[in-house]
Amino acid sequence: MKKNPAKKTRARAVKPLIGKLVVFGVGLIGGSFALALKKRRAVAHVVGVGRSRANLLAARRLGIIDEIASDAASAVKDADLVLLAVPLGQTRAVLAQIAPHLAPHTVVSDAGSTKRDVIDSARRQLGAAFPRFVPAHPIAGTEKSGATAAFPELFTERNLILTPVAETSPGALKLVAAAWKLAGARVVTMDAAAHDRMFALVSHLPHLLSFTAVSNIAGYPDAKNLFQHTGGGFRDWTRIAGSSPEMWRDICVANRDALLNALDSYLSDLEEVRGMLEASDAAALEAKFATARAARAKWLTPK
Ligand code: NAD
Repeated sequence: MKKNPAKKTRARAVKPLIGKLVVFGVGLIGGSFALALKKRRAVAHVVGVGRSRANLLAARRLGIIDEIASDAASAVKDADLVLLAVPLGQTRAVLAQIAPHLAPHTVVSDAGSTKRDVIDSARRQLGAAFPRFVPAHPIAGTEKSGATAAFPELFTERNLILTPVAETSPGALKLVAAAWKLAGARVVTMDAAAHDRMFALVSHLPHLLSFTAVSNIAGYPDAKNLFQHTGGGFRDWTRIAGSSPEMWRDICVANRDALLNALDSYLSDLEEVRGMLEASDAAALEAKFATARAARAKWLTPK
């Protein structure tokens, strides 16, 4: 069948969702977001801003970004969407840098793993532009960092959580939700405090425990020998201790109150298990393990 040239021209002329995307922090998350949108032809031009020149050069070489910004002010000029994908401890400073230079239509969003502190910073730093700030958190990642770790399928069928507040502009929310959907994610909306409690329990605490488990073994005088004798179990549950210490330091500090609650609840469970062990209460230990195994099986059974 002959192709219709008019149809082809029309298809090419479709305007991408985002004309100019600026990514602060072209690492695993920021880089993967840019790549996913590029793959869907949903963005025309991507500008990267970072603190490591080598990482930005790698990002440009890999086609993640089209341009390396010389400074934050010129980077955000006329941007349609600015994504902050920096370690949480950098969020306030980046927001302060960009606030005076945002165009009236520019939407700002983030990918931070905690939400209440990011919203507080955005409210303080962005002033009149705060309604165009859309707090977001993709529930996807690996233990790897930097532009070289980015890949376009990272968010495929993963949740993307939005935690808008009363002031958030519906138009800004719509743009950010549409972008993440095009990146392959399922968009879910929840309250920021509920988000922070939930991720303290299912993500931040497990990371804290995994880092602590490895550093505990590393602290023994015969650590080298101990590590040589580890099996798949130790490797599995400490995989996430290979994550960025800076990123996880910032997440723990930002979500301190919720994480302390999660840790206290875990410590009281550990105390209970310790008591069972001390009393050689094999039945109680087995019951505890059986409950955990059943809960895990239920969680992992496809619905
Ligand atoms: P990453 O280390 O791969 O990338 C972060 C990038 O930010 C680095 O390239 C770094 O050089 C750059 N950077 C640091 N300070 C900067 C600054 N002031 N200005 C500009 N760039 C700066 O980290 P990542 O895994 O992509 O995480 C980024 C954000 O996404 C974090 O806030 C994290 O909480 C969140 N997040 C991470 C995961 C995950 O599993 N990795 C999942 C969801 C959300």
